[in-house]
Amino acid sequence: MKEVVVVSPHKVEVREVPIPKIENDYDVLVEMKSAGVCGSDFHIYHGTNPCSTYPRIPGHENAGVVAAVGKKVSKVKVGDHVIVDLIMTCGTCYQCKIGRKNVCENVRVRGSGADGGWREYFTAPEPEVYKISPEVSWEDAALVEPFAIGAHCTSRGRVVPDDTVLILGTGTIGSIILQTCKAKGCKTIICCDISDTSLERAKSYGADYVINSRSEDMVKRIQEITQGKGVTIAFDSACFKGSLTMIMQPGIVCNAGRIVPMGFVTEPEAITQAMINQRELDIIGSRMSCFQFEPTIRHMENHDFKLAGIATNFIKFSNIQEVFDHMDHPDPAVKKMVVLFDE
Ligand SMILES: [Zn+2]
Ligand SMILES: [Zn+2]
Repeated sequence: MKEVVVVSPHKVEVREVPIPKIENDYDVLVEMKSAGVCGSDFHIYHGTNPCSTYPRIPGHENAGVVAAVGKKVSKVKVGDHVIVDLIMTCGTCYQCKIGRKNVCENVRVRGSGADGGWREYFTAPEPEVYKISPEVSWEDAALVEPFAIGAHCTSRGRVVPDDTVLILGTGTIGSIILQTCKAKGCKTIICCDISDTSLERAKSYGADYVINSRSEDMVKRIQEITQGKGVTIAFDSACFKGSLTMIMQPGIVCNAGRIVPMGFVTEPEAITQAMINQRELDIIGSRMSCFQFEPTIRHMENHDFKLAGIATNFIKFSNIQEVFDHMDHPDPAVKKMVVLFDE
């Protein structure tokens, strides 16, 4: 079989290796069918992912077919279509015990701290593998992981139908948060971006209002839309230096509102205690997802989301170099790539 290894930043090798064997009774051998390409893969390739070590096989948005199972596996059988979780945990630490396994103190992430799915076969323990209906296409199955992020961050943010939502940034994750909030019944969702084409796409995914912050005054528009009240929850899925400070300025989030930053920007923000406490804001961290794969798979099976246009480029595994070419020469029209494994 073939595997794709980022040997060191900007250095990629496609290697021929043996297909892994089932080594323990709870192992599942997965034959990969599709894998989403995400910002963190971009950062692994460019050497800017703080969680990654080298050499590394990228890929954390993994869908495939069960090719073999260990003796004690009962959840899936050979031939089942499955999604593989990216989170590998210890199961014994404080965080694991309180149901926060995504921030397990010994967490390992398949595709950044451990090898991921950009290879034709790999094994995963039974609990990290989830069955999905074969009616969900491989193109769509690769989107389960990012939609699980949408489920997680909106759950962390305690989104309810009465919320007035602001989503800053309408890329892949922003579009997914938008659709998740819609699915949770929110009636007023405002999307803000600097790209009109991105905002048009957000409208097609259900945005009630869009603001181009390059040509419009974001605070003024939010005040108009919310009749001077402000939004009750804001997601920062733009994640540039200063974006968090931007959505914390007065007039955007109301008193007792919530703010969920989605990124890993390392530059300091200009946030003061007063900005938080005058309005008693909650700033809520959110990382990857936690127990959201199975509910997200059910939503996918029920066609609850608009998936067209989330992935914009489908690339064959045998042409994987194209993925890295796009990483070398980013094009705003390439919003999300999905790798499809050759038949
Ligand atoms: Zn991702
Ligand atoms: Zn743990």
